[in-house]
Amino acid sequence: MSVQGSALRGLTLDLDDTLWPVWPAIARAEADLHGFLAIHAPATAQRFDTAALRAIREQVEREHPEWGLDFTRMRLESVARALTQCGDDPALAVPAFEVFFEGRNRVECFDDALPALEALAARWPIVALTNGNADLARIGIAHHFVGVVSAREFGIGKPDPRAFHEACRRVGAAPHEVLHIGDDWALDVVGAHRAGLHSAWVHRAEGHPCRPDADVEPTHVVRDLTELATRLIAQGRG
Ligand SMILES: [Mg+2]
Repeated sequence: MSVQGSALRGLTLDLDDTLWPVWPAIARAEADLHGFLAIHAPATAQRFDTAALRAIREQVEREHPEWGLDFTRMRLESVARALTQCGDDPALAVPAFEVFFEGRNRVECFDDALPALEALAARWPIVALTNGNADLARIGIAHHFVGVVSAREFGIGKPDPRAFHEACRRVGAAPHEVLHIGDDWALDVVGAHRAGLHSAWVHRAEGHPCRPDADVEPTHVVRDLTELATRLIAQGRG
């Protein structure tokens, strides 16, 4: 499936690991959260280091599959649980999460991300489509987007076609007129393909891309967003 830039009416864009590497931000946020506990709930901080807190967070996720992709709720519950176990006030989970969330949104974009985002946003409406809980306003890039579909707020995440179709609705175009951009093969490329969108796979890793599904062919495979923006804009002029 190929699409000319001129036929494109909008873009949907993954966030984590497409615009910035997510794990460094999560690690910073977990360290900040632990720092908060060390001051306000020292018993909890002493008993649970960041790895132990992450283990509780993963335990909560396993126990509550019905919470879906609501990572905020899982993090809050896990911190409250740690506080309770140590005799500290579980209500401290709320300000502790705020400290975590501040760190989680202190992302460092890939060098190519912001110039490409700016160039693409000047030509097409862009809707963020994320399973994570990044906050575009806090990050300072909300003005490049016409909307956000997050799994937490919408209740359904990628690769479910309904998440893609909701994003297309907010773009104001039909799925076959929209290109989804993302780094994750299963969530972004296969998900977009099954929902009837075009797809751009941002494959930043070195080496030959491994494509597990031979029957799914991304519309574009690119090393970074500069390559994609250059290609789309050239097609749009062609
Ligand atoms: Mg991603």
